[in-house]
Amino acid sequence: MKYFKWTWTYLKRQKLLLVLILVLTVIQIITQFGGNFYQKQLIDDVIVKGDMNLLRSTILIIGVCYLLHASLTFLSPYVSLQNYSRLRLDMSGWLLRYINQVSILRIQRERINDMVSLFLWQLHLVPFALSDRLWNFIQNLTLSLALIIFIAWVSPKMLFICILTAIIYVWLGYFYGIKTKEARKKVWDARYKLGVCLEEGVSATREITAYNLDEWDSSRYNSLFKEYYDHSMQEVRTNNKKLIWSKGLEWVTLLFIFFYGAYMVYNGQMSIGVFVVTYIFGTQYLSTVLALFDSGTDIIGHLTHVERIMKFTEQPIEKSGERRLKSGVQTIYLDKITFRYPEQESDALHEIECELPIGKTIGIVGGSGSGKSTLAGILFGLHDPGEGNVLVNGIPLKEWDYDDWKMNTAIVLQEPYLFHDTLRQNLLMGQEISDEAIMRVLKIVQLESFIHSLLNGLDTIIGERGITLSGGQRQRVALARALLRPSEVLILDEATSALDLETERKFQAALRQERLGKTTVIVAHRLSTIRDADLILVMDNGHVVEQGGHSVLMALGGYYRKLVDTQENIYQD
Ligand code: ADP
Ligand code: MG
Repeated sequence: MKYFKWTWTYLKRQKLLLVLILVLTVIQIITQFGGNFYQKQLIDDVIVKGDMNLLRSTILIIGVCYLLHASLTFLSPYVSLQNYSRLRLDMSGWLLRYINQVSILRIQRERINDMVSLFLWQLHLVPFALSDRLWNFIQNLTLSLALIIFIAWVSPKMLFICILTAIIYVWLGYFYGIKTKEARKKVWDARYKLGVCLEEGVSATREITAYNLDEWDSSRYNSLFKEYYDHSMQEVRTNNKKLIWSKGLEWVTLLFIFFYGAYMVYNGQMSIGVFVVTYIFGTQYLSTVLALFDSGTDIIGHLTHVERIMKFTEQPIEKSGERRLKSGVQTIYLDKITFRYPEQESDALHEIECELPIGKTIGIVGGSGSGKSTLAGILFGLHDPGEGNVLVNGIPLKEWDYDDWKMNTAIVLQEPYLFHDTLRQNLLMGQEISDEAIMRVLKIVQLESFIHSLLNGLDTIIGERGITLSGGQRQRVALARALLRPSEVLILDEATSALDLETERKFQAALRQERLGKTTVIVAHRLSTIRDADLILVMDNGHVVEQGGHSVLMALGGYYRKLVDTQENIYQD
């Protein structure tokens, strides 16, 4: 039932189209009936009785009916496509918004291929079922009802057999609909697995070659393919069984209509015209009910796709707050933040409490896995803290409008995502900025000479995920991208880890100038990066174990000093 409810929310937005579809269906049926009815007149009155006066008008009416019917048949695919496209656009927009708004942790647990498949397949097949298939269903349902009425008018006995076949068809439709749905679900599950395996195989080509894993990769693929093949065969078998029953029923009913009709003509209870038209209508009735049965089982079968979409989207999105952040960021206070990842046994952050000085540079340091990125993510609002709050201007972050907060902040991650596009587009990301402004920022991130060395400069295409760039260049493109956005708070999460010491030093100096008077949070593994920060948070195992300026922390002679001493020794070695 909930599937129908979900489906209805989208269908009802296409009300006008649905009404149009209904009107077209009714006209189609009237023209079809008209054509057939005048056929009867042609046989009984013109051919048998020889009333030639009726010949011209009868043929004309039959012609007009068929012409109208044919043009509606041509029009149907257009209206159906309209309906399909609107539904698909509507649903895709909704799913995209969902993915962008639901918790990042939830999305990180999904396979990319699964999510892409949702858009490619589920959001194709569900709108298809709700446009083409549903229209087909409505048309056939209306037509079969109309045909039943006609048949009832001609002979109640024939009506009885028609209703009986209809009941058997409905039952078969329901029975095979469920079976088709189950079979289809298995085929799709196997298809997904196959897709994931292929995607991984292609993405990990380098590893597969390096570790000589060709055989392992192909045997994995083969066994998944076999699973897919077996389930597909099962679906075909189900379809065949459905076909045997439905075709058998069609033949039996047709034979009955034929012999019973012939018997009535023989006894003089029916004219030849009525017999011919009844036989035509009977044939039409059966093919209509058959089509109705097919579209019905198909629609039920496609519910498996609705099920998949609903399962993917069952976790509600976290609603953004409504307070508008118009007066800018005046204070940020981390108020006893505790956070645990769903599958972890211990806290990734434990009661983090401190004031972040606005307009200053804040460094976050600590060993690998100490919780630095988690804290940066919470500060940016990527995750909601389990306990405690990020207080912005004294109010919890989740109460502010999230779009406003994102307009005021920017984050650069250690492994940024770059688009398979030009450098310019990767930097602008939808903004309009002059080349001078871009070059100014590229100078800060130490990429100016690199851009000049490129034949196409900013118009160079950088390949999938920026594959044609080095790790350090990719990081600097991401840094430039963030610097091109006017952000009050900039968070860099090990964003310069792939730069050599010299380039990093130059970048840090330029960054300091650029961010004068603005808040910059720098998460760093290399301590030299944050030496000049106004406040340094030293993290260990999810706790802030020390905080203060570099000299204060050095004088303290604690954990920070130990980290500095160890790193200096390494670099001196
Ligand atoms: P750091 O950035 O200091 O290296 P992180 O904040 O990334 O550390 O990680 C802190 C802890 O949280 C680690 O133990 C890590 O395994 C865990 N962790 C990080 N990200 C996730 C995640 N997406 N899901 C589950 N656990 C995570
Ligand atoms: Mg990290």
